[in-house]
Amino acid sequence: MSEHKDFLRVIVEEDLKENKYQEVITRFPPEPNGFPHIGHAKSICINFGIARDYNGFCNLRMDDTNPTTEDTKYVEALKDAVEWLGFEYKDEVKYTSDYFPKIYEYAVELIKMGKAYVDSITEEQMKEFRGTVTQAGKRSEFASRTIEENLDLFERMKNGEFKDGEHVLRAKIDMSASNMKMRDPLLYRIRHAHHFRTQNQWCIYPMYDFAHCLSDYIEGVTHSICTLEFENNRDIYDWVLNELNLTPPRPYQHEFARLGINYTVMSKRKLLELVNGNYVSGWDDPRMPTIAGLKRRGYTKDSIINFCDQIGIAKANSMVDVSQLEFCIRDDLNTKAPRVMCVLDPIKVTITNYEGSEDIEASYYPHDVPKEGSRKIPFSNVVYIEREDFSENPVKGYNRLTPNQAVRLRHAYIITCEEIIKDENGKIIEIKALYNPNSKSGNDTSGIKVKSAIQWVDANNCKKIEVRLYDRLYKNEAPEGLEDLNPNSLSIIKDALIEPAVITDKVDERFQFERQGYFYADPIDYSDEIPVFNKIVGLKDSWAK
Ligand code: ATP
Ligand code: MG
Ligand code: MG
Repeated sequence: MSEHKDFLRVIVEEDLKENKYQEVITRFPPEPNGFPHIGHAKSICINFGIARDYNGFCNLRMDDTNPTTEDTKYVEALKDAVEWLGFEYKDEVKYTSDYFPKIYEYAVELIKMGKAYVDSITEEQMKEFRGTVTQAGKRSEFASRTIEENLDLFERMKNGEFKDGEHVLRAKIDMSASNMKMRDPLLYRIRHAHHFRTQNQWCIYPMYDFAHCLSDYIEGVTHSICTLEFENNRDIYDWVLNELNLTPPRPYQHEFARLGINYTVMSKRKLLELVNGNYVSGWDDPRMPTIAGLKRRGYTKDSIINFCDQIGIAKANSMVDVSQLEFCIRDDLNTKAPRVMCVLDPIKVTITNYEGSEDIEASYYPHDVPKEGSRKIPFSNVVYIEREDFSENPVKGYNRLTPNQAVRLRHAYIITCEEIIKDENGKIIEIKALYNPNSKSGNDTSGIKVKSAIQWVDANNCKKIEVRLYDRLYKNEAPEGLEDLNPNSLSIIKDALIEPAVITDKVDERFQFERQGYFYADPIDYSDEIPVFNKIVGLKDSWAK
């Protein structure tokens, strides 16, 4: 547990000290209508994290009260996300729909107490009667129905005698409450739709405000943690649980600030739009802020957990800079990823004074990474270097290979440029170079000073790979919709070249391609014929303003 205690843990500790609860029980209650995103990761870390820290447990509950948008594929994605982040939920996944019979009974109870009624006004009237912040609402004439009438109508609603929208069940609270949500909130609505779990068993569905507090209570939840936009719903939460005179203890709702990240959208509706419109390859497209997307991109679970930890738990909404997430993965991989050499845009270098071939032993890790391991890098008289690591007419300060400036081939020798060969369009197709036999890395007696070392691969032994480079999905800091998409968020390089050990030894799935960034073998498209690597993140924050 981090040293600084967040306000939620302070509340939990106070409750435990006062013996309000025997055990801490939290829940993560997503609606299975989309893949979970990094915002959900935040909620998962909070709910499961608090349960773990206080030896309690956390339920994974599908809040499946909206039959038209929900699906089992989303349930699977939610389970995957929780498990991948390393958390365990107690027993099986729970579903609000499992409690439909019980929730129905509670509704009947409220009716019997005269605290709920069947209303039959139109939607427009309902809006009109609600009033405004400055003006009290007025109650519908149907609020004066007798308990018997209400019981009868509610049962017939359940039995499917009415069409969608014909009646609703409302709590009888206060049409002039300053909290607008308390103006006789809806408890049930009619919806003739197929539900992915209860099929056609129900045609009335409880509203969030009624189902959520009761599901929490039924599960014995103690701390019901949600995001700030539910602040005004807390009064209903308390009202329902109090009016029903339930056996204590009962849960209480606590709100924290929703995670927002710039250059990112997190509404599932907007993410679904990207998927359905084929703007991305799917929910797990490596550019998506979904857990599945981040995972496929190459993010580690530790980097995501560290990110959620670092941003903390706040009571006021704020925007987190996406570079903070990028920092977390870079920071995590810096101490884990083997360093290898890959050339994205190759240019041929023939070393005219080198004969034969050799294998150069090179460590996978720099000195400051406490990991062991090395590989053999083949070397011969033909290598490829990065096109941008040579300049015929260098700008001032250019410190790589030029006609007048030597460079070191990383782990190998120092070379100088002898001749430039161009095609008919003037494009450089080959460089003829000389190497210095006394300049071998680690054993350099040449006395030559070079300003940099560049990556290279041996022409005879390198492997061709596909590299997918990602940029931000949105070009605007506060993206709204499709018009803000970055048209250049994906570029594919089909013929990058990599040193053979990466493919043959497979020491890891994630690598640092030296001077390029961190890369991950795409878990879906990678094959022996076409090894595919995703760029996870660059080596430094190239977006720094
Ligand atoms: P969205 O509006 O992005 O589709 P949602 O709030 O409708 O998300 P749910 O599936 O209902 O998504 O959320 C499950 C849980 O995750 C809720 O407790 C919710 O508060 C939390 N959650 C969702 N988005 C975020 C976020 N951006 N930051 C923190 N918690 C979030
Ligand atoms: Mg929701
Ligand atoms: Mg939503």
